[in-house]
Amino acid sequence: MEPILNFINGEFHPSASGMTLETVNPASGQVITTLPRSSAEDVAMATKAALEAGPAWSATTMEERMAWLHRIADALEEEAETIAQLESMDTGKPISLARRVDAARSVSNFRFFANFGRDHTEPIFSDHGAVNHVHRSPVGCVGLITPWNLPLYLLTWKVAPALLMGNTIVAKPSELTPMTANHLAKVLTKVHFPKGVFNLVHGLGPEVGQAIVEHPDIRGISFTGGTATGKIVAATAAPMFKKLSLELGGKNATVVLDDAPLEEMMDGIVRASFTNSGQVCLCGSRVLVDAAIYDRFKTMFVDAVSNIVVGDPASESTVMGSVISKDHQTKVESYIELGQQEGGVVLTGGSATDAPVKGVTAQGAFLRPTVIEGLSHTSRTATEEIFGPVVTLHPFTSEQEAIDMANATEYGLAGSVWTADTARGYAFAQHLDTGIVWVNTWLNRDLRTPFGGVKQSGVGREGGAWSLNFFSELTNICVQQP
Ligand code: NDP
Repeated sequence: MEPILNFINGEFHPSASGMTLETVNPASGQVITTLPRSSAEDVAMATKAALEAGPAWSATTMEERMAWLHRIADALEEEAETIAQLESMDTGKPISLARRVDAARSVSNFRFFANFGRDHTEPIFSDHGAVNHVHRSPVGCVGLITPWNLPLYLLTWKVAPALLMGNTIVAKPSELTPMTANHLAKVLTKVHFPKGVFNLVHGLGPEVGQAIVEHPDIRGISFTGGTATGKIVAATAAPMFKKLSLELGGKNATVVLDDAPLEEMMDGIVRASFTNSGQVCLCGSRVLVDAAIYDRFKTMFVDAVSNIVVGDPASESTVMGSVISKDHQTKVESYIELGQQEGGVVLTGGSATDAPVKGVTAQGAFLRPTVIEGLSHTSRTATEEIFGPVVTLHPFTSEQEAIDMANATEYGLAGSVWTADTARGYAFAQHLDTGIVWVNTWLNRDLRTPFGGVKQSGVGREGGAWSLNFFSELTNICVQQP
């Protein structure tokens, strides 16, 4: 495939240094193509283009920007199959998942914010004979930094509201998954999107990401990634008083109460555990089950997990593809070993070598979905983010114990509760220290709702009005009649 290039001021460029990296298909181990290994120099060029494009873009009306978002959504929709194929190749996720989730959501992110802008009105406050108007201005040039698990999905989740509010952008996707961000740049070219408003700089996190966070003219940073990286981003950006949104890691609990109709709910619980090989920040990697139904749950869950079809992502029948890289496979395998050293018993799965995956070569980064029981809920395996297809099972004997176990982690991103009694589930959900809790469902996303984490899972919220707030500065204009 043709090499990927940076997208700066509406044109494709190699890195200033000419250095490149390779992007690899993790399911085959084959190099797909090269991408620029950019530096602060490339970030400076992109920022200059964004600053120059800023005045004209921010002078457009909200209606004009909404029309642009619809145009981009239309163009992405036309290319949905290409996007799904590129995403599947770059991440190793099944093509069916890439179509259903990644390609579809990238379109709906633009569509949603286009419509949301139309419905959004600002409040007016009158008091003491004066009228207060809330006025929004763009933040300016914003930096968007995104991870590899849902590459275009998460990038467009930031790009759409940033554009809607009149900002210009310097974005950096993960160097492991640059393909669909590059395709977005091509789509913007195709629809003649104004030059310099959206700029893309590829490369390594500590080089390009760090340069974006450090650049004094980039006034806001929206970052999604791991907690350790989030700490570096926060430490760099905070003294510069940049606007900062951090969407970080998770170690989410799936809580199964004693009245849960297991036959009906098992598919949802398995999906919450293993979608995208467990590489969704919202996946439930700790399954807490009432001791009264633990044995029955375990039998049904292990049976369902053992039947997940793992294999070639290009095959329509594949449910679980590879993980993101050989390095990540090694990391996940080290946690499976750690779990056993900590006293856990592997009920299904384990290392790839124990259970070779049909139809793929040894160069692919494959793992069977793995379930471990017998671990303390405070063990490292049960509290550290593995971000792979590994789930631990833990019985509890009271709701209070389940709440304490669910909250016994430094993370607080998401959780789910499964019960026949929705009022009981709703009451339980309020005790979880997380940004989102689902009752009898998972990854059910209404894009108007706040999204984000507590504790080490992040700072700030995005989604609906929260995204508009992040990507704008508010000025209160108080008008008194003379
Ligand atoms: P990383 O934190 O490693 O990377 C995220 C992004 O930050 C990448 O683009 C990376 O570049 C970049 N980066 C790395 N170092 C720096 C730096 N010093 N300054 C600025 N940017 C930098 O996360 P992963 O890509 O490994 O993604 C997995 C993590 O993302 C998991 O912890 C997961 O939970 C979290 N996540 C959170 C979500 C949420 O909404 N809360 C959603 C999805 C994932 P490069 O890849 O080139 O190193």
